[in-house]
Amino acid sequence: MAAQTIHRQEKEQFIKLFEKDRIDRFEERLAVLELFLASEHHVTASELGALVRQAGRDLSDGFVLETIELMCRYGFAQANQFDDGQVRYEHRHLGQHHDHLICTKCQRIIEFQEADIERLQLKVAASYGFHMLQHKMELYGICGQCLEQREQILSLDAARPGERLKIVAFGGGSQSKLRLLSMGLRVGDEIEVITNIHQGQVVIALDFKRLVLGKGLAQKIRVETIRSGR
Ligand SMILES: [Zn+2]
Ligand SMILES: [Zn+2]
Ligand SMILES: [Zn+2]
Repeated sequence: MAAQTIHRQEKEQFIKLFEKDRIDRFEERLAVLELFLASEHHVTASELGALVRQAGRDLSDGFVLETIELMCRYGFAQANQFDDGQVRYEHRHLGQHHDHLICTKCQRIIEFQEADIERLQLKVAASYGFHMLQHKMELYGICGQCLEQREQILSLDAARPGERLKIVAFGGGSQSKLRLLSMGLRVGDEIEVITNIHQGQVVIALDFKRLVLGKGLAQKIRVETIRSGR
């Protein structure tokens, strides 16, 4: 079904349900719903508030948030909280389900549907005698666009948690090279980034061992991405 048709039906149901339950400030709430349906997926309440005011409606963020929470309660919207802690809302269309790929670099959210994954989840649940009702699948990584823009070789302090990398060179003076060698790091080693907090200290895994590197040292390690699935 085309998005426009779905959105018209959503609006009709919204009008019926909200009128029946005598929800207050109905006209204004309907305006918020219309802008929400016309908006990109995954907006925050304050982003939607800005859109509402751009459209010439003098409504507060508080009112917009309250309305969007009502829409969630009636099943027109759905709240998601991804890794950055912000609550984002998206359309909830009956009978439609999708999962998310989230770029940790540019925060882009890509939606996908994969019947095999859906089926396997039910199968896994059933094998535990578990009746699955719903699920969320969020895959974190680096989107194609960010990968393209990114240099092939980067310094370790710019790497992301979960990245698998190969050490291609040590920069810096002989002192830091010696320190890296004494930690057991060699050019050609494959490592995984465990944490990289605020671009400072980096914890990596090498052969099932954790190594902690300060930012200064991490900057001196040149690495290249080992791409998955290629
Ligand atoms: Zn799914
Ligand atoms: Zn990206
Ligand atoms: Zn979505």
